[in-house]
Amino acid sequence: MNETVIKIEALFSQKGEEAYFGEAVTQAAHALQSAQLATEEGAPPTLIAAALLHDIGHLFHPEDLADSGIDGQHEEQGAAWLSAYFPASVTEPIRLHVPAKRYLCAVEPGYLAGLSPASVKSLALQGGPFTPDEVVAFEQNPHFEAAVRLRHWDDTAKVVGLEVAPLGNYLPLLLSLAS
Ligand code: FE
Repeated sequence: MNETVIKIEALFSQKGEEAYFGEAVTQAAHALQSAQLATEEGAPPTLIAAALLHDIGHLFHPEDLADSGIDGQHEEQGAAWLSAYFPASVTEPIRLHVPAKRYLCAVEPGYLAGLSPASVKSLALQGGPFTPDEVVAFEQNPHFEAAVRLRHWDDTAKVVGLEVAPLGNYLPLLLSLAS
């Protein structure tokens, strides 16, 4: 089995049962629900992988980051680590999933009101809703539509007790994408 996929499995088993910050579901449940929503919507394999791995930056141990020389926010950390092994169609929506929240707050009526309290709280730390200029710039990014789709799954994947397919179901997909 590919070394990267082994590492992803290990991160899920070591840290996946930790709480997803301020929410009532675990990190693993949140990741698997995100991937399931992507699958149900018929998203391409790269975007299903992005949904599954979008918060992997929250699962790193401090030593993983020191080893990789990575510093920054969880979306940047996750994308930076994954970019050594996965294509941009996986890693860029991950890198952009926080900007996508700031984007949606600016352009989608009712979006901000529908966010969870924890998500509203982190929004302020992340810079708040985009300005009109930032909206225009974000829409130029070739991965912006994928990031917005991922963001909607991210916001929805917080259902307590939902039955989901296990991580093992996604390993063939990850293996097919990892180099
Ligand atoms: Fe998330």
